[in-house]
Amino acid sequence: MNFTDFHQRSVDDPQGFWAEQATLIGWNKPFSETLDYSRPPFTRWFVGGETNLCHNAIDRWLDTRGDQPALIAISTETDTEKVYSVRELHQEVMRTAAIMQSLGVGRGDRVLIYMPMIAEAAFAMLACARIGAIHSVVFGGFAANSLATRIDDAQPKLIVSADAGSRAGKVVPYKPLLDEAIGRASHKPAKVLMVDRGLAPMDKVDGRDVDYALAREQHMHAQVPVTWLESNEISYILYTSGTTGKPKGVQRDVGGYAVALAASMKYIFLGQPGGTFFSTSDIGWVVGHSYIVYGPLIAGMATIMYEGLPIRPDAGIWWSIVEKYRVTAMFSAPTAVRVLKKQPAEFMKKHDISSLKALFLAGEPLDEPTAQWISGELGVPIIDNYWQTETGWPILTVARGIDDTPTRLGSPGKPMYGYKVKLIDEATGEECGPNQKGVVVIEGPLPPGCMQTVFGDDERFVNTYWSNIPDRQVYSTFDWGVRDADGYYFILGRTDDVINVAGHRLGTREIEESIASHPNVSEVAVVGIADKLKGQVAVAFAILKHPEQAETMEQKLALEGDVMATVDRQLGAVGRPARVYFVPLLPKTRSGKLLRRSIQAICEGRDPGDLTTIEDPASLQHVRDAVGG
Ligand code: ATP
Ligand code: MG
Repeated sequence: MNFTDFHQRSVDDPQGFWAEQATLIGWNKPFSETLDYSRPPFTRWFVGGETNLCHNAIDRWLDTRGDQPALIAISTETDTEKVYSVRELHQEVMRTAAIMQSLGVGRGDRVLIYMPMIAEAAFAMLACARIGAIHSVVFGGFAANSLATRIDDAQPKLIVSADAGSRAGKVVPYKPLLDEAIGRASHKPAKVLMVDRGLAPMDKVDGRDVDYALAREQHMHAQVPVTWLESNEISYILYTSGTTGKPKGVQRDVGGYAVALAASMKYIFLGQPGGTFFSTSDIGWVVGHSYIVYGPLIAGMATIMYEGLPIRPDAGIWWSIVEKYRVTAMFSAPTAVRVLKKQPAEFMKKHDISSLKALFLAGEPLDEPTAQWISGELGVPIIDNYWQTETGWPILTVARGIDDTPTRLGSPGKPMYGYKVKLIDEATGEECGPNQKGVVVIEGPLPPGCMQTVFGDDERFVNTYWSNIPDRQVYSTFDWGVRDADGYYFILGRTDDVINVAGHRLGTREIEESIASHPNVSEVAVVGIADKLKGQVAVAFAILKHPEQAETMEQKLALEGDVMATVDRQLGAVGRPARVYFVPLLPKTRSGKLLRRSIQAICEGRDPGDLTTIEDPASLQHVRDAVGG
């Protein structure tokens, strides 16, 4: 079957289509109804069915793959590497599950996981899934404030953490942050389970803190059966990255998520039992949930958890991992690829990567120069995929497990099966035609795997996501896009990022792409700032490949003019930024997304807003200096 027919069937007959996909996972009890959409926009998939994520990720593979690798934990920070077979992972997860039970955690209780990229973090997630506890993973290294907000929102009975993470060889202590966060939060967890990696000293709170290694000793032979859950019980809560404002607590189900992941591994991510999946993301993000922990394991693959940078000990580290473990598919983000692009070319060619079938990239726009460079270097398909924490799996991409729909540079691809994607003109609420820009929306019912609601706040779910387009109840992605005549979508930026210059609506992404094609520009952020005459003007902040060529004021002005001329040629004068500033660093979230709203706020003399997820606060000062000077 070709993809067009496959997609058509999925939207014409969602019940039939998804009932078929449901056979990709194991069920303890069959569902009685494929979809209950009696209370839109809330969906209930696979009603009455009983299953379990941990069962599908581990137990289901014990007979056929028991001694094969399941989890490969690699840290170039601590120089450790450990391979867990399916059987070993099973035992470790049962031990952790038994510890959790002994600490009073049961079905429906929340467990907050604040951990570095170590195997115990995966054990903790899978142990929660096993006993029906709801995990809420908070990106390790978030400051005490962000952690405290999430503790109060999720109200965990237990927090699992570690003494420290490590980044670029520097120990990042977690325990002091955790203690401070718990101090600030109004909700207090009854117990805190601490993994001691021996990296940083820890203060122990008597009666509350439990040592993981000691507890594990007491549960070495634990047998903890899977708790069967109704499909629509909650599997986890995960907060969005906070690029555009206050993070939202995305709540996900059990059965729908398991089916969606199994299907995506088969149709999109070239998963097959015995293969090895390497996602360079972090368990603190949605990619880590779907495509480090659950997706690959549900597909019967080994999954790699990597703690470390892409360029340490050298820029060949990823490819040496691919070579050593015969990685079959990889998942990363454009921001990491741009880091590699700045390194000496020799590292890209040092290792045998012939096992690799594709590199999947997501999280932010994949610009053409980056896509072309990495595809040339690796010689495997580079597959962009567009989605959100909210959806849990790709909305737009090409499904190589179904047919060989070609990729198109600059486009993540086409709407995936199950998604009724539309482009809507914000002002009129009308559907856009080809090449007409609009908001990317999804018509309900959302397919399995997507968020059920905002944790504890159904009203916020409806008001935030389903009430943006006049007279239509559709799910808004808050992204702005365009579709070409062949049905490929292009993401132009977030709806907050549209610049309105004298009535012309421009996506920040269009201008950024144009500026990035200048030979001296390695990265750029464009924001719209208020202007008395034109309403808004575009202003650009660029990182240079050769900053030494823009040291004097004269050089800077010449280069600025040159960059503007590039935009003039490609987009016309209407897209030309009013100013181009050169900075050494751009403000980004810890997941690598540009914080345009903060740049914009600084330019307009406002407060930069919620900065809990910023990677390096110094970047804001560079923006201030550039604008001020
Ligand atoms: P918040 O919603 O809290 O502001 P966030 O949107 O950054 O945070 P995520 O859910 O991690 O949190 O990111 C999803 C967003 O990332 C998408 O809505 C889109 O803007 C962007 N994105 C993801 N993948 C792609 C891609 N392949 N191409 C372009 N943009 C992408
Ligand atoms: Mg978002």
